[in-house]
Amino acid sequence: NLDIRVSIPSDDEVGSLGRAINDLAIETNRYRSNRKEFFANISHELRTPISYLKGYAQVLKQGLYQTEEERLHYLNIIEEETERLVRLINDLFDLSKMEEGKFDLQMSPINLTEVLESALFKVKMEFKKKGLTLKSQIDEDVPYINGDGLRLEQIFMNLLGNAVRYTEKGSIYVKVWSTDRKVHVIVEDTGMGIPEKDLLLVFERFHRVEKSRSRELGGTGLGLAIVKNLVELQNGTISVSSEMGRGTRFHLSFPIAE
Ligand code: ADP
Repeated sequence: NLDIRVSIPSDDEVGSLGRAINDLAIETNRYRSNRKEFFANISHELRTPISYLKGYAQVLKQGLYQTEEERLHYLNIIEEETERLVRLINDLFDLSKMEEGKFDLQMSPINLTEVLESALFKVKMEFKKKGLTLKSQIDEDVPYINGDGLRLEQIFMNLLGNAVRYTEKGSIYVKVWSTDRKVHVIVEDTGMGIPEKDLLLVFERFHRVEKSRSRELGGTGLGLAIVKNLVELQNGTISVSSEMGRGTRFHLSFPIAE
């Protein structure tokens, strides 16, 4: 433990130096405990699907099932858990590159409306499957922003995916418009909502409101951490507001290209 607080002897340069050292110590401690927690989380997240894989492989190997249907059920679990592991590993890889500042973006002038529409097209089936309706208010010719088209699509896919995942009935609403210097996007749902105490934390790695529920729905707990990193790498901002039982709204904005 790095608990070397120095006393502040005076209010001059020496005092400021003392304060700076103390701030650094606090920051270092915070970093260490975050790191420790992060690795504990990763181990847990990896261990869970692996123990399912092992368990069900054994069940199949020992013929511990009665019907063909049961056998297929176990094989499906194995497939789903494998997919989860792949997603988790890809997400971790991306996040670590972002945090090292080594994540490559292919920047070019982008029309956000086109990107959002392409993402909507891809998740349309998921909406239909759950009986959710799509409402939109989209300005077709918003000004260009500077960004990476594929990564922007990833951002929207993620937010739309969450909107569908955490909404039982009602609709998903999207809006695109521009103001003086920015292009704005809203992705909103009429889902379960996020408790106020979790609102600032949902962008943290592995923070979930309900662990078991997110897991059941296939989440890795890294989606929003990646989204926030991607938005900020493209000079954008993202914020969230929510009301329990009524829905959640994500608001993104990006500077208009020069
Ligand atoms: P996950 O893979 O668990 O969905 P995310 O990083 O995408 O991870 O989201 C973090 C947590 O934020 C989720 O576990 C969920 O509790 C909450 N969350 C995200 N999006 C929504 C939403 N649209 N409505 C309600 N809760 C949400």
